Amino acid sequence: MRYISTRGQSAPQSFCDILLGGLAPDGGLYLPESYPQVSRADLDAWRKLSYAELAFAILSRFIDDIPAADLKAICDKTYTADVYGYVRDGAKASDITPVHWLEPGKLGLLELSNGPTLAFKDMAMQLLGNLFEYVLDKRGEEINILGATSGDTGSAAEYAMRGKHGVRVFMLSPHGRMSAFQRAQMYSLQDANIYNIAVRGMFDDAQDVVKAVSNDHAYKAKYKIGAVNSINWGRVAAQVVYYFKGYFAATESNDQQVSFVVPSGNFGNICAGHIARMMGLPVAKLILATNENDVLDEFFRSGVYRPRNTAETHATSSPSMDISKASNFERFVFDLVGRNGNAVRELWSKVDAGGAFDLSATPEFAAIGQYGFASGSSNHAARLATIRLADEKYATVIDTHTADGLKVALELRDPAVPTLVLETAQPAKFEETIVEALGRKPTRPAGLDNIEALPQRVEVMDVDAEAIKALIARTVEAG
Ligand SMILES: *Cc1c(COP(=O)(O)O)cnc(C)c1O
Repeated sequence: MRYISTRGQSAPQSFCDILLGGLAPDGGLYLPESYPQVSRADLDAWRKLSYAELAFAILSRFIDDIPAADLKAICDKTYTADVYGYVRDGAKASDITPVHWLEPGKLGLLELSNGPTLAFKDMAMQLLGNLFEYVLDKRGEEINILGATSGDTGSAAEYAMRGKHGVRVFMLSPHGRMSAFQRAQMYSLQDANIYNIAVRGMFDDAQDVVKAVSNDHAYKAKYKIGAVNSINWGRVAAQVVYYFKGYFAATESNDQQVSFVVPSGNFGNICAGHIARMMGLPVAKLILATNENDVLDEFFRSGVYRPRNTAETHATSSPSMDISKASNFERFVFDLVGRNGNAVRELWSKVDAGGAFDLSATPEFAAIGQYGFASGSSNHAARLATIRLADEKYATVIDTHTADGLKVALELRDPAVPTLVLETAQPAKFEETIVEALGRKPTRPAGLDNIEALPQRVEVMDVDAEAIKALIARTVEAG
């Protein structure tokens, strides 16, 4: 399996080669040169598998440069009840991603947030931590991960990489914009290989610093800079697995279809759903839900992709979706325009210059229905109302991002098709808004009671790529 760039001008690479990098040299994102196809016999066989076995079955279709026995061992070590143990009462941790039914057989939450940081990003990141350590050990190399987070990516990366041999993590976060619990989770880590940097700006400013560093090819090579933000292909590949797992949990036979509703920001999660569908998983609809930052909803409704600037980006109560440019969206557009790298390069020459593009009059957009997308958006008042509704009608406390998903699910679902809302975080992470909605705090998983009181390690800096480069250089050179 070779990986090609969405902008068509970089040489094809193997999985392990792109695993440790970020963007392709031409500025594009990597995708497999074709999607592996899943047969009916595969689905029949896979239905019975445990999560770890299913992960191996699917990932081995994407990864052919790690020996099968080693990949299997990595999947077995990653997807354990120990790592994904923060389940709701009554759920089995060994299921890794249990379905919590709101309306039995009809409407459920696919629980993706039972990992160490209580958000779905653990699903992929824990695998990445083990893959990184394996590949770096084989090659006798080291890597310095530089990332930007609006909350959940950063903590998931840090919990996946803490203490890992050959890895340092430099994580940029927007100063003062994460919840107290999110800050405590990240900044309280005392592992010597984890460095937290809070920048005075928004998530997109932090992301721009990461891009600026990545574009300095000499620096990037000298200091072995790598990425784990949502453009990393390994993450998208790992996320494909739970769409299959959720499908099997919601159906009795492979003749049925399932719809998935995905609270979205950077388009990473739902991009994996798109790939699962392209592989042949019987998905009826992929329903995208945004918060007030509705750049993706706008595209699916109008054909116009218009990234916002910092001033136009709302700080919302579902902050992990406060994203104005959806970096993984380029992967879907590559498929939409017939995998034409030149066309993608032209579209993103407008985006990268701060502009927009409009596909509304193109035959490609006219045919977008074949990809199964639908979309909607939510806002603070709807979020609170949905959290209340879930509590009253379904006796289930949901987090703010999942609430945006459920809000759109209730509007757009086809009652004849089982619909799974991806539960992307646990309510304990967003306590302030749960109190606002319900007048009481959500229960916290045992062991996380006093996390805000722990000492924190963080450096506050300006949005200044050169200063941040100098900090990384000093740290790496000090050994
Ligand atoms: C990251 C995140 C999202 C958005 O996922 P994307 O892959 O960026 O679309 C939604 N909810 C939560 C809780 C998240 O952490």
